Amino acid sequence: MNRVILIKYGELTTKKGNRKFFIQTLYQNIQKKLAGFNVEITQDLSRMYIEKKKKDLSLILKKVQEVFGIHTFQVAVKIKSEQEEIKKTCLSLLKNQKFSTFKVETKRSDKSFPIPSMEFSKQIGGLLLKSIDGIQVDVHQPEVLVRIEILPEYTYVYTDQYTGLGGYPVGTQGKGLLMLSGGIDSPVAGYLSLKRGIQVDCVYFEAIPHTSLEAREKVISLTRKLVKYRSKISLHIVPFTKIQEAIYQNCDPDYMITIMRRMMYRIMDRLAKQKNALVIINGESIGQVASQTLNSMAVINAVTNMPVIRPVACLDKLEIIDIAKKIDTYDISILPYEDCCTVFVPKHPVIHPTMEACLKNEEKLDYESLIEETLREVFTLSIEEEEETFAEDLF
Ligand code: ATP
Ligand code: MG
Repeated sequence: MNRVILIKYGELTTKKGNRKFFIQTLYQNIQKKLAGFNVEITQDLSRMYIEKKKKDLSLILKKVQEVFGIHTFQVAVKIKSEQEEIKKTCLSLLKNQKFSTFKVETKRSDKSFPIPSMEFSKQIGGLLLKSIDGIQVDVHQPEVLVRIEILPEYTYVYTDQYTGLGGYPVGTQGKGLLMLSGGIDSPVAGYLSLKRGIQVDCVYFEAIPHTSLEAREKVISLTRKLVKYRSKISLHIVPFTKIQEAIYQNCDPDYMITIMRRMMYRIMDRLAKQKNALVIINGESIGQVASQTLNSMAVINAVTNMPVIRPVACLDKLEIIDIAKKIDTYDISILPYEDCCTVFVPKHPVIHPTMEACLKNEEKLDYESLIEETLREVFTLSIEEEEETFAEDLF
C-alpha cells in the first residue's frame, strides 16, 4: 500500500496575512529535517503531503514529531478515487486491527464522485460489518474512526492520528540569544522559545579553570538536544574568568552574583547586537534564587534595553522538570559539573539589591575594558543535527 503522511498546520492557520510565509517556512523546515530521506513534499492551503520512496516510515514519523508548527498528522493510504479501490483499501486496513466499535466518515471534495458522502460512509460501514466478525458501529465514541477523503484524482484513507508539537515553525520569528547554563531551566527556556518560532542561538559563560571542560561538554550536549528543533545552532562561548575574578576581588560578597549577572547581561546586549538578535532569552524563574527576586531582576535588567524573555519565569520547578524530562535534557542537566555561577557563590547573596549599591560596587571595576577584551575572545561552535539511521522499518 502506498502510505502518505498528511500534515495539518497548527496555530498558523490563524495567521491570515502571514500564512504563506508560515507554510513556506514549515515546508523548508520539514525538508531540512528529512534531507537524508528520499521523500517528496507537496502542499496546499490546508496541509502538506509527504510521500516516501523507500520503506522508512517509522523514522520519518519520528522526525516529523520534532518539527514545530505541526498540529496533527496522519498516515494515510493513497489510492485512486475509484469506488472499488476505496472499498478494498478500507477492508484491508481494518481487517488486521483489533477493535469492537467503529465509525466511517467520508469527505467528498470532488463532487464528480458519484456517491454522496453520507451514503458512501454507510456503504463502507455495511461492508466492514459484513466482512469482520464481532464489530459494531458507534457514532459517538468509536474505537476506530475510518476517514475517507475523496479528492479529484486521489483518495486518502486513514484511521490513526498523531499529535504534532504545535507552536510556530522555527524561523517565523527573528533571532534570539539564549543564555544556556548547564542547569535544568535554561534548556527548557530554549525549547519553549523555539516553539514560538524564534531562531535560537546559545551563549555559555565559562570561567576556566574554575569551571571544567566537562561543564562545557555538558552545555554542548544540551545544545545537541535543542538542535533537533532547529537544524543548526551556534553556541557562543564567553571566557568569563577575568571578569569573574575581578568581581571576586573587588566587590562586596553579597553583591557578587548581582554584579556578575549585570556583566553577563551587558555582554549579552553587545553579543545580541553583534549577531542581529532581537531578544535575550534565559531560564530565570521568579523567586527561585536570590538573583531571581523581582528586585534582583529589576537591577540586573537595567543594564540593557533589549527585551529579555524568560519563558519559565512563572513555572514551578516541578513543571520545568517535567518539560526537561520530556525533551530529554534533564539527565544531562543533573550531571554534577559546576557552572560559573556556582563556583563563586557567596554565603548571603543579596535578595533586595539596590541600584545605588550596584553602581558603587561597579566603580571599583574597569568593566568596560574587561567586557571589550572578553568580547574579543568569544568563540563559536556550530552544532548541527546528527543523522540517525534505523536498520528496520517498523511499519
Ligand atoms: P539553570 O538551571 O538553567 O542553570 P538556575 O536555576 O541555575 O538556572 P541561575 O544560575 O541563577 O539559575 O541562572 C539563571 C539563568 O541565567 C539560567 O537559567 C541561564 O539562562 C543564565 N545563566 C546562568 N549561568 C549561566 C552561564 N554560565 N552561561 C550562560 N547562561 C547562564
Ligand atoms: Mg545555573
